[in-house]
Amino acid sequence: MSRYYCPFCSSRYQFYETRSDGVLICGHCRDPLVKKGFINSRRFIGVVAASAFLAPIVIMIIYVINDFTKEKFPNNSETLVLLTIDK
Ligand SMILES: [Zn+2]
Repeated sequence: MSRYYCPFCSSRYQFYETRSDGVLICGHCRDPLVKKGFINSRRFIGVVAASAFLAPIVIMIIYVINDFTKEKFPNNSETLVLLTIDK
C-alpha cells in the first residue's frame, strides 16, 4: 500500500480506497494513485547534496592520511641514514 501515493494530497493525511474495478484511489480527491519509484526524487536530490558536501571532506582526510604516512617515513632511522648517505 505504501508503494502508492496521491500526487495531489499531503502525504501525511492520505488514505486509500479500492475502486470497484480494483484500482487504488485516493480517499480525498478520488484520483488514481501513482506508483512510487525505487528512490523518490527528493531523497535522490538529498543524497546528491549530502555527497557534494561530504566528498571534499573525505578527499581531504585521505590526503591528510597520505601526507602523515609520508612525513612519518623518514623518521625510521635506517631510511634517514640512507637519505643522508645519498646526499
Ligand atoms: Zn488525493
